[in-house]
This record gives sequence, structure tokens and C-alpha cells, in this order.
Amino acid sequence: MDREQLAGTIVWVVLLLACAAPFYLRDRARKRNRAGRCAQCAEPLPWDDRFRIEGQLLCATCARRTHRRIRIAVYAMVGLGLACLLLGVGFAVSLRAEGDPSWWFALLFMSGCGLGLLLLTWFALRSMRADNVQGVATERALLLLRLLGVDKIRWQKNRPFDGGA
Ligand SMILES: [Zn+2]
Repeated sequence: MDREQLAGTIVWVVLLLACAAPFYLRDRARKRNRAGRCAQCAEPLPWDDRFRIEGQLLCATCARRTHRRIRIAVYAMVGLGLACLLLGVGFAVSLRAEGDPSWWFALLFMSGCGLGLLLLTWFALRSMRADNVQGVATERALLLLRLLGVDKIRWQKNRPFDGGA
């Protein structure tokens, strides 16, 4: 294996890990939530002081931190998007002033990037809200199953038959 092949392999492994990490983290968070613990720091969650973000239950400290992180990310994305739009307009105006016939391409490209970023932010926020709705629904379904005793029935069915007392 020469150096180039090695570099290629490393890039692929890193990419795969980067794709797998969110699934792993989500699974871990779900397991913690099911055990009544905060999805991030794994501390026991008090009943009256828990918060739902991205479909996961968090303690007050983690919720505050996550909220701040999300807000910063959203501001950064919106800022970048608007900067792209403004830059595109600026570029196009200066190219046109120089008599460059491709000025419209700069406008199209940069405003496309800007709009793409804004749309991406919007989608991310929307999917977070959808995650919350789904999280509530899953929790209700699990609680209902427990109330109906379905989990108990299944457990009894799985017991080996020993001829009775
Ligand atoms: Zn926490």
C-alpha cells in the first residue's frame, strides 16, 4: 500500500465514522432517556425540570447549553447566507461596471449559495421540531403499552412452561 492509497483509506474511514457518529450518539441518547437520564450528561432527570430538544430529554444545564449552541449556529448560518447574498450583489455590480458580460453568473452563483444556506437552516430547525413531535409520540406510545400491560404479557409468554404449581 503506497502513501496515496493509505491517505485515501484514512479519508474514507474518517468519512464513515463522521456519518456513523450521529446514529451512535442518537442511540446512546435514546437509551439514556429511556433509563430516565439526561441524554447528554447521563444525570438522573427530575420530573419537573426536563427539557425536550431535538427529540431528546435534557436536564436544565444541558438544555441551556444546547440551546445556546443551536442559536449561535443559526445566527452564523443566517449571517453567512446574507453575506453570500450581499457579496453576490456586490460582485455582480462591480463586474458589470467593468463591462464583464458574466456578471449575472456571479449574482446567480452567490445568491444561490446564500439562499441554499438559509434554506438549510430552515430545514434544520424544522426537522428539530419534527423530532420533538416524534419524541413525544414515541414516549406516549411506550407509556400506553406499559399501561395496557402489553410488555408484561409478552414477558409472561416468554417464560418457560414448568407444568404449573
Ligand atoms: Zn444533562
